[in-house]
Amino acid sequence: MTTVPPPAVPAPEPISPVQAAALRDGVLPPAEEVRPGIWNLAVPFRFGVPDATLVYVVEGADRSLTLIDPGWASDDDLQGLRDGLAAIGRSLDDVGLVVVTHLHADHLGAAAAVRRATGARVAMHRLEVEALRRERDDARANDVDIATWGLPGDLRAGVVEAWGSGRRIGLGRTAEPFADVLLEDGDVLPVPGRTIRTLWTPGHTAGHCCFVDEADGLLFTGDHVLPRINSGIGLGGRTTTNPLGDYLASLGRLVQYADLEVCPGHEYRFRDVVARARTLARHREERSRHVAEALDALSSPTLYEVASRVPFSGGIESMTGFLLASALTQTAFHAALLGRAGEVRPA
Ligand SMILES: [Zn+2]
Repeated sequence: MTTVPPPAVPAPEPISPVQAAALRDGVLPPAEEVRPGIWNLAVPFRFGVPDATLVYVVEGADRSLTLIDPGWASDDDLQGLRDGLAAIGRSLDDVGLVVVTHLHADHLGAAAAVRRATGARVAMHRLEVEALRRERDDARANDVDIATWGLPGDLRAGVVEAWGSGRRIGLGRTAEPFADVLLEDGDVLPVPGRTIRTLWTPGHTAGHCCFVDEADGLLFTGDHVLPRINSGIGLGGRTTTNPLGDYLASLGRLVQYADLEVCPGHEYRFRDVVARARTLARHREERSRHVAEALDALSSPTLYEVASRVPFSGGIESMTGFLLASALTQTAFHAALLGRAGEVRPA
């Protein structure tokens, strides 16, 4: 069966000429004031793609600073953050609060080091702390799942290393998962003089949160919505719900914020979150259709056999490790949402 791809929807344009120029030149954008007392920094991320995390710095009425996603750190190397804060005339010592959208190392990674260096409190959703603990205490549970996927033998070890017992999703294998402030949907961040509300948006991870600053017209979206990248689904450890269903529901939660400027965790700031959410939802519908076609065509397939028929960008043959595991688990989430999980045969 041939399928005609839908017309490609162009990615939203960058709002900021500074970020647009940096994108064109392939360099990190410089620090930029987005609103009075709110800045956007970019810190390098030395582990895969994308290669920078966007950090947002929010000044409270008492001049203390809040960081939304401090970015990646290795071995307490906070130089990228120190440089960014110096560029806006401030320093790490001014940071009193670190807010994290989700548990991935490119967002949460520097939190522990900032806390050690400054005494700043760290805030994230309760489910992220629970997921980090579960991953640390029971990483082998993922190995049991992986064994059922029907992976060719030469690919298995790399997937176990990246997704199973070798996996590191946040603070690293040895750090004690923690948060000083556990966030729930609707909570207002403890930033003096500002009202920034927590919007729980599970899907990318179970405790992923966006943050809404209506007075300044800003929506901080972490990895829930990015301008060009299709957010991965279910990348925060095992869950009791289907992360794909959660993700689509979380996209639906953004409709009321159409007028806000979108401040994502990577790439660049843009407008019209509703149009972008629609594109992302359409991408998921398309993938569900491909998974349904694969299930129609195969008799009692393994998960790997189903995923091999889904046109992932780059093709599944080119994938190993984390990317391959993500493609396979996504396939499983689509099959489950179609009500057809039972048609996939555990290997
Ligand atoms: Zn990220």
